[in-house]
Amino acid sequence: MKNPTFGLVIHGGAGVILRENMPPALEAEYRAKLGEALAAGYAILDRGGPALDAVVAAIRVMEDSPLFNAGKGAVLNAEGVCELDASIMDGRTLAAGAVAGLHHIRNPITLARDVMEKSGHVLMIGDGAETYAKKLGYALEPAEYFITEVRRQQLEQARRIEAGGKPSAALLRERIGSGNPGDEYRVNEFKYGTVGCVALDRAGNLAAGTSTGGLTNKRYGRVGDSAVIGAGTYASNATCALSATGQGEYFIREVVGHDVAAQMAYRNASLADAAADTIRRIGELGGSGGVIALDRHGNVAMPFNTPGMYRGVHLSTGQPVIEFYGPDAPQ
Ligand code: ASP
Repeated sequence: MKNPTFGLVIHGGAGVILRENMPPALEAEYRAKLGEALAAGYAILDRGGPALDAVVAAIRVMEDSPLFNAGKGAVLNAEGVCELDASIMDGRTLAAGAVAGLHHIRNPITLARDVMEKSGHVLMIGDGAETYAKKLGYALEPAEYFITEVRRQQLEQARRIEAGGKPSAALLRERIGSGNPGDEYRVNEFKYGTVGCVALDRAGNLAAGTSTGGLTNKRYGRVGDSAVIGAGTYASNATCALSATGQGEYFIREVVGHDVAAQMAYRNASLADAAADTIRRIGELGGSGGVIALDRHGNVAMPFNTPGMYRGVHLSTGQPVIEFYGPDAPQ
Protein backbone atom coordinates (compact mmCIF):
# COMPACT_ATOMS: atom_id res chain seq x y z
CA MET A 1 0.00 0.00 0.00
CA LYS A 2 1.16 3.55 -0.71
CA ASN A 3 2.46 5.58 2.21
CA PRO A 4 0.67 8.84 2.99
CA THR A 5 2.59 11.86 1.72
CA PHE A 6 1.07 14.21 4.27
CA GLY A 7 -1.47 14.23 7.07
CA LEU A 8 -2.20 15.04 10.66
CA VAL A 9 -3.36 13.53 13.94
CA ILE A 10 -5.09 15.44 16.75
CA HIS A 11 -6.18 14.69 20.30
CA GLY A 12 -8.58 16.39 22.67
CA GLY A 13 -7.53 14.64 25.87
CA ALA A 14 -7.65 11.16 27.38
CA GLY A 15 -9.56 9.83 30.37
CA VAL A 16 -12.69 8.00 31.44
CA ILE A 17 -14.53 8.54 28.18
CA LEU A 18 -17.15 5.79 27.97
CA ARG A 19 -19.80 5.25 25.34
CA GLU A 20 -22.41 4.36 27.96
CA ASN A 21 -21.91 7.71 29.72
CA MET A 22 -21.68 9.91 26.66
CA PRO A 23 -24.91 11.71 25.80
CA PRO A 24 -25.40 11.57 22.00
CA ALA A 25 -25.68 15.36 21.76
CA LEU A 26 -22.34 15.84 23.52
CA GLU A 27 -20.72 13.16 21.37
CA ALA A 28 -21.96 15.02 18.30
CA GLU A 29 -20.47 18.28 19.61
CA TYR A 30 -17.07 16.67 20.14
CA ARG A 31 -17.19 14.97 16.78
CA ALA A 32 -18.02 18.24 15.00
CA LYS A 33 -15.28 20.22 16.73
CA LEU A 34 -12.61 17.56 16.24
CA GLY A 35 -13.67 17.37 12.59
CA GLU A 36 -13.32 21.14 12.26
CA ALA A 37 -9.83 21.05 13.81
CA LEU A 38 -8.74 18.23 11.50
CA ALA A 39 -10.11 20.04 8.46
CA ALA A 40 -8.35 23.30 9.38
CA GLY A 41 -4.98 21.53 9.55
CA TYR A 42 -5.59 19.28 6.55
CA ALA A 43 -6.49 22.18 4.24
CA ILE A 44 -3.09 23.77 4.94
CA LEU A 45 -1.18 20.54 4.31
CA ASP A 46 -3.19 19.78 1.18
CA ARG A 47 -2.20 23.04 -0.47
CA GLY A 48 1.47 22.42 0.38
CA GLY A 49 1.66 24.47 3.59
CA PRO A 50 4.08 23.66 6.41
CA ALA A 51 3.36 21.15 9.17
CA LEU A 52 3.88 23.90 11.76
CA ASP A 53 1.03 25.97 10.29
CA ALA A 54 -1.26 22.94 10.30
CA VAL A 55 -0.46 22.21 13.95
CA VAL A 56 -1.24 25.78 14.99
CA ALA A 57 -4.45 25.93 12.94
CA ALA A 58 -5.82 22.67 14.33
CA ILE A 59 -4.96 23.54 17.93
CA ARG A 60 -6.46 27.03 17.70
CA VAL A 61 -9.84 25.55 16.75
CA MET A 62 -9.78 23.46 19.93
CA GLU A 63 -8.43 26.32 22.10
CA ASP A 64 -11.36 28.47 20.97
CA SER A 65 -13.88 25.75 21.84
CA PRO A 66 -15.14 25.44 25.44
CA LEU A 67 -15.26 21.64 25.03
CA PHE A 68 -11.54 21.17 25.63
CA ASN A 69 -9.15 21.91 28.45
CA ALA A 70 -7.20 24.55 26.53
CA GLY A 71 -7.78 28.25 25.90
CA LYS A 72 -11.48 29.00 26.47
CA GLY A 73 -12.96 26.32 28.73
CA ALA A 74 -9.65 25.34 30.33
CA VAL A 75 -9.85 23.81 33.80
CA LEU A 76 -9.59 26.08 36.84
CA ASN A 77 -6.67 26.13 39.24
CA ALA A 78 -6.94 26.36 43.02
CA GLU A 79 -7.46 30.15 42.77
CA GLY A 80 -10.42 29.62 40.43
CA VAL A 81 -8.75 30.94 37.29
CA CYS A 82 -7.36 29.37 34.12
CA GLU A 83 -3.60 29.05 33.90
CA LEU A 84 -2.50 27.97 30.47
CA ASP A 85 0.54 26.06 29.16
CA ALA A 86 1.50 25.25 25.56
CA SER A 87 4.44 24.21 23.44
CA ILE A 88 5.39 23.60 19.83
CA MET A 89 8.31 21.98 18.04
CA ASP A 90 9.61 22.00 14.47
CA GLY A 91 10.91 18.57 13.46
CA ARG A 92 12.96 20.03 10.61
CA THR A 93 15.24 22.20 12.78
CA LEU A 94 14.47 21.04 16.35
CA ALA A 95 13.45 24.63 17.06
CA ALA A 96 11.00 24.74 19.96
CA GLY A 97 8.89 27.25 21.86
CA ALA A 98 6.84 26.97 25.05
CA VAL A 99 4.79 29.11 27.41
CA ALA A 100 3.46 28.40 30.88
CA GLY A 101 1.26 30.03 33.50
CA LEU A 102 -0.63 32.34 31.12
CA HIS A 103 -3.85 34.02 32.27
CA HIS A 104 -4.80 36.29 29.39
CA ILE A 105 -3.68 34.80 26.07
CA ARG A 106 -6.52 33.49 23.90
CA ASN A 107 -4.32 31.15 21.85
CA PRO A 108 -1.28 30.01 23.84
CA ILE A 109 -0.10 27.84 20.93
CA THR A 110 0.42 30.96 18.80
CA LEU A 111 2.46 32.61 21.55
CA ALA A 112 4.52 29.41 21.91
CA ARG A 113 5.27 29.66 18.20
CA ASP A 114 6.26 33.31 18.56
CA VAL A 115 8.56 32.38 21.43
CA MET A 116 10.15 29.79 19.14
CA GLU A 117 10.52 32.05 16.14
CA LYS A 118 11.05 35.53 17.58
CA SER A 119 12.29 35.53 21.17
CA GLY A 120 15.60 33.69 20.98
CA HIS A 121 14.36 31.62 23.94
CA VAL A 122 12.53 28.32 24.27
CA LEU A 123 10.34 28.71 27.38
CA MET A 124 8.71 31.87 28.76
CA ILE A 125 6.36 31.95 31.74
CA GLY A 126 3.71 34.01 33.52
CA ASP A 127 3.75 37.80 33.52
CA GLY A 128 6.98 37.92 31.52
CA ALA A 129 5.50 35.84 28.72
CA GLU A 130 2.41 38.07 28.70
CA THR A 131 4.54 41.23 28.62
CA TYR A 132 6.31 39.74 25.63
CA ALA A 133 2.95 38.96 24.01
CA LYS A 134 1.82 42.56 24.54
CA LYS A 135 4.99 43.80 22.84
CA LEU A 136 4.14 41.59 19.87
CA GLY A 137 0.69 43.20 19.71
CA TYR A 138 -1.43 40.46 21.32
CA ALA A 139 -4.73 41.53 22.86
CA LEU A 140 -4.97 40.35 26.47
CA GLU A 141 -8.28 38.68 27.35
CA PRO A 142 -9.95 39.17 30.74
CA ALA A 143 -9.79 36.09 33.00
CA GLU A 144 -13.59 35.62 32.58
CA TYR A 145 -13.20 34.94 28.85
CA PHE A 146 -11.70 31.53 29.65
CA ILE A 147 -14.00 30.42 32.49
CA THR A 148 -17.03 28.19 31.89
CA GLU A 149 -19.73 26.95 34.26
CA VAL A 150 -18.76 23.29 33.77
CA ARG A 151 -15.21 24.04 34.91
CA ARG A 152 -16.51 25.95 37.95
CA GLN A 153 -18.51 22.88 38.94
CA GLN A 154 -15.51 20.61 38.40
CA LEU A 155 -13.40 22.81 40.67
CA GLU A 156 -16.08 22.69 43.36
CA GLN A 157 -16.17 18.96 42.96
CA ALA A 158 -12.39 18.70 43.32
CA ARG A 159 -12.44 20.86 46.44
CA ARG A 160 -15.25 18.79 47.94
CA ILE A 161 -13.37 15.56 47.35
CA GLU A 162 -10.15 16.98 48.71
CA ALA A 163 -12.01 17.95 51.86
CA GLY A 164 -13.05 14.29 52.22
CA GLY A 165 -16.50 14.58 50.65
CA LYS A 166 -18.14 12.49 47.96
CA PRO A 167 -18.49 13.48 44.32
CA SER A 168 -21.83 14.60 42.99
CA ALA A 169 -23.33 11.79 40.93
CA ALA A 170 -25.09 14.20 38.60
CA LEU A 171 -21.89 15.95 37.57
CA LEU A 172 -20.10 12.67 37.14
CA ARG A 173 -22.70 11.42 34.72
CA GLU A 174 -23.11 14.67 32.93
CA ARG A 175 -19.63 15.64 31.90
CA ILE A 176 -16.92 13.62 33.51
CA GLY A 177 -18.14 10.21 32.69
CA SER A 178 -17.72 7.55 35.39
CA GLY A 179 -20.66 5.49 36.54
CA ASN A 180 -20.26 4.78 40.19
CA PRO A 181 -20.53 7.80 42.47
CA GLY A 182 -19.27 5.72 45.39
CA ASP A 183 -15.90 5.15 43.75
CA GLU A 184 -12.82 6.67 45.29
CA TYR A 185 -11.44 9.12 42.81
CA ARG A 186 -9.99 12.50 42.12
CA VAL A 187 -11.53 14.65 39.41
CA ASN A 188 -8.33 14.65 37.41
CA GLU A 189 -8.32 10.91 37.08
CA PHE A 190 -11.46 11.17 35.03
CA LYS A 191 -10.68 13.32 32.09
CA TYR A 192 -7.78 15.27 30.71
CA GLY A 193 -8.99 17.59 27.98
CA THR A 194 -5.64 18.84 26.77
CA VAL A 195 -5.39 19.29 23.01
CA GLY A 196 -2.56 18.43 20.65
CA CYS A 197 -1.64 17.94 17.03
CA VAL A 198 1.14 16.26 15.06
CA ALA A 199 1.54 16.84 11.34
CA LEU A 200 3.58 15.72 8.34
CA ASP A 201 3.73 18.08 5.36
CA ARG A 202 4.32 17.45 1.66
CA ALA A 203 7.97 18.48 2.09
CA GLY A 204 8.43 15.61 4.58
CA ASN A 205 8.68 17.80 7.68
CA LEU A 206 7.13 16.90 11.01
CA ALA A 207 5.80 19.25 13.71
CA ALA A 208 4.03 18.82 17.05
CA GLY A 209 2.12 21.08 19.44
CA THR A 210 0.17 20.79 22.68
CA SER A 211 -2.01 23.25 24.64
CA THR A 212 -3.68 22.87 28.04
CA GLY A 213 -5.11 24.35 31.19
CA GLY A 214 -3.37 21.58 33.15
CA LEU A 215 -5.16 19.86 36.01
CA THR A 216 -8.23 21.03 37.94
CA ASN A 217 -7.35 22.57 41.32
CA LYS A 218 -3.62 22.71 40.54
CA ARG A 219 -1.59 24.95 42.86
CA TYR A 220 1.10 27.62 43.07
CA GLY A 221 2.70 27.77 39.68
CA ARG A 222 2.33 24.10 38.81
CA VAL A 223 3.41 23.44 35.23
CA GLY A 224 2.63 20.17 33.44
CA ASP A 225 4.19 18.24 30.60
CA SER A 226 2.35 20.22 27.92
CA ALA A 227 4.83 23.09 28.32
CA VAL A 228 7.85 20.81 28.59
CA ILE A 229 9.65 20.10 25.32
CA GLY A 230 10.67 16.43 25.27
CA ALA A 231 7.85 15.44 27.65
CA GLY A 232 4.41 16.54 26.36
CA THR A 233 5.63 17.68 22.96
CA TYR A 234 8.47 16.55 20.73
CA ALA A 235 9.25 16.55 17.01
CA SER A 236 12.25 15.49 14.96
CA ASN A 237 12.20 14.59 11.28
CA ALA A 238 14.66 11.82 12.14
CA THR A 239 12.12 10.01 14.31
CA CYS A 240 8.62 11.28 15.06
CA ALA A 241 6.29 14.06 16.13
CA LEU A 242 4.40 13.48 19.38
CA SER A 243 1.86 15.20 21.65
CA ALA A 244 0.77 13.80 25.01
CA THR A 245 -2.18 14.06 27.35
CA GLY A 246 -2.54 12.70 30.86
CA GLN A 247 -1.15 13.26 34.33
CA GLY A 248 1.66 15.60 33.41
CA GLU A 249 3.86 14.76 36.39
CA TYR A 250 4.29 11.21 35.12
CA PHE A 251 4.85 12.34 31.54
CA ILE A 252 7.61 14.69 32.67
CA ARG A 253 9.28 11.99 34.75
CA GLU A 254 9.27 9.53 31.82
CA VAL A 255 10.27 12.32 29.39
CA VAL A 256 7.65 10.78 27.13
CA GLY A 257 8.13 12.62 23.84
CA HIS A 258 11.86 12.22 23.73
CA ASP A 259 11.65 8.69 25.10
CA VAL A 260 9.59 7.56 22.11
CA ALA A 261 11.94 9.33 19.68
CA ALA A 262 15.03 7.91 21.41
CA GLN A 263 13.72 4.36 21.19
CA MET A 264 13.26 4.83 17.45
CA ALA A 265 16.73 6.34 17.06
CA TYR A 266 18.73 4.12 19.39
CA ARG A 267 17.07 0.72 19.24
CA ASN A 268 15.46 1.09 15.85
CA ALA A 269 11.98 0.60 17.31
CA SER A 270 8.95 1.20 15.11
CA LEU A 271 6.76 4.16 16.04
CA ALA A 272 3.98 1.89 17.29
CA ASP A 273 6.33 -0.24 19.36
CA ALA A 274 8.13 2.75 20.91
CA ALA A 275 4.92 4.64 21.77
CA ALA A 276 3.27 1.55 23.27
CA ASP A 277 6.36 0.80 25.35
CA THR A 278 6.48 4.33 26.75
CA ILE A 279 2.79 4.33 27.68
CA ARG A 280 3.25 0.93 29.32
CA ARG A 281 5.97 2.43 31.52
CA ILE A 282 3.75 5.42 32.37
CA GLY A 283 1.24 2.87 33.64
CA GLU A 284 3.88 1.01 35.65
CA LEU A 285 4.82 4.27 37.30
CA GLY A 286 1.15 4.76 38.27
CA GLY A 287 0.24 7.37 35.66
CA SER A 288 -2.49 7.51 33.06
CA GLY A 289 -2.96 9.17 29.70
CA GLY A 290 -1.93 8.73 26.10
CA VAL A 291 -0.06 10.11 23.12
CA ILE A 292 -0.56 10.75 19.44
CA ALA A 293 2.50 10.22 17.28
CA LEU A 294 3.37 10.33 13.58
CA ASP A 295 6.57 9.47 11.72
CA ARG A 296 7.82 10.75 8.37
CA HIS A 297 6.47 7.69 6.55
CA GLY A 298 2.98 8.56 7.72
CA ASN A 299 2.79 5.81 10.35
CA VAL A 300 0.44 6.74 13.19
CA ALA A 301 0.40 5.54 16.81
CA MET A 302 -2.19 6.58 19.41
CA PRO A 303 -1.71 4.40 22.52
CA PHE A 304 -3.47 5.32 25.79
CA ASN A 305 -4.04 3.52 29.07
CA THR A 306 -7.30 5.31 29.94
CA PRO A 307 -10.72 4.03 28.81
CA GLY A 308 -10.80 6.60 26.02
CA MET A 309 -9.04 9.43 24.21
CA TYR A 310 -10.61 12.01 21.91
CA ARG A 311 -8.61 11.64 18.72
CA GLY A 312 -8.72 12.17 14.97
CA VAL A 313 -6.58 11.28 11.97
CA HIS A 314 -6.62 12.51 8.40
CA LEU A 315 -3.89 11.18 6.11
CA SER A 316 -3.50 11.93 2.41
CA THR A 317 -4.33 8.28 1.65
CA GLY A 318 -7.71 8.25 3.38
CA GLN A 319 -10.72 9.95 4.87
CA PRO A 320 -10.83 11.70 8.26
CA VAL A 321 -11.43 9.31 11.15
CA ILE A 322 -12.55 10.43 14.62
CA GLU A 323 -12.62 8.08 17.60
CA PHE A 324 -13.29 8.43 21.32
CA TYR A 325 -13.22 5.03 22.95
CA GLY A 326 -10.69 2.33 23.62
CA PRO A 327 -10.39 -0.94 21.68
CA ASP A 328 -12.24 -2.81 24.44
CA ALA A 329 -15.20 -0.42 24.48
CA PRO A 330 -18.59 -2.08 23.94
CA GLN A 331 -19.99 -1.40 20.46
N1 ASP B 1 -1.03 16.73 30.57
C1 ASP B 1 -1.74 17.89 31.09
C2 ASP B 1 -1.04 18.39 32.33
O1 ASP B 1 -0.63 17.59 33.13
C3 ASP B 1 -3.15 17.57 31.45
C4 ASP B 1 -3.97 16.99 30.33
O2 ASP B 1 -3.47 16.19 29.54
O3 ASP B 1 -5.17 17.33 30.25
O4 ASP B 1 -0.97 19.58 32.49
